[in-house]
Amino acid sequence: MVRVSDVVSFVRCKRLAFFSIHHPKDFPTPLKAAREIFLSLRKGFDYEWAFERFSTLYPEAKDVFVEASKNFIISEELEKLTPLKWEQYYHSEKLKLSGVVDEIHENSFLWVSLKAPKKEKFENRIKAACYSILTGIDTAYIYYCYDGKFERIDVSRRDKYNALRIIEKVRKIEKGTLPEREESWMCEKCVYVDSCKEKRSTFASRFL
Ligand code: SF4
Repeated sequence: MVRVSDVVSFVRCKRLAFFSIHHPKDFPTPLKAAREIFLSLRKGFDYEWAFERFSTLYPEAKDVFVEASKNFIISEELEKLTPLKWEQYYHSEKLKLSGVVDEIHENSFLWVSLKAPKKEKFENRIKAACYSILTGIDTAYIYYCYDGKFERIDVSRRDKYNALRIIEKVRKIEKGTLPEREESWMCEKCVYVDSCKEKRSTFASRFL
């Protein structure tokens, strides 16, 4: 079963999708801490509760939580969206796709990110399309919690089509195809850089 996060990884770097599927690493990040803060505040709890949740998973990462809490902004605009569910897991047997949506409303869904990008990102459209396929809802919001800003994405049929094309490729990677290495600015900070340099791509990677 391919996760929405694997699809997003593929858009960033094809090889990243391979490593996140076959060699997943779970480490604390400001985004994970910010997500705990968002969920706790939206559910009527506080920062202390958010820290309890975060530190249960990452007991050695208090500094990461502190950094996220210093930058976190809760916008009054969020009150216009009434949450029905949080952290909702969806999966499709037919598409072999699964994902967890941060917040669901009557006709929209939302996920948390850190900073608003300067221009629209393709990976956000694909992520919105994947969640749309799973939930049956076509309106997505991204809440940029370090800026207190929203982005709305109205998912089109073309977005879903593009998402399906990418899911096909990620499923090949799930079966073992290792894409060719594409050096980019991300490699410097990538947690898989050492293994990535050692591994040679498989023949089937030509068809990705
Ligand atoms: S090191 Fe670079 S090419 Fe390799 S997985 Fe990371 S980002 Fe992708």
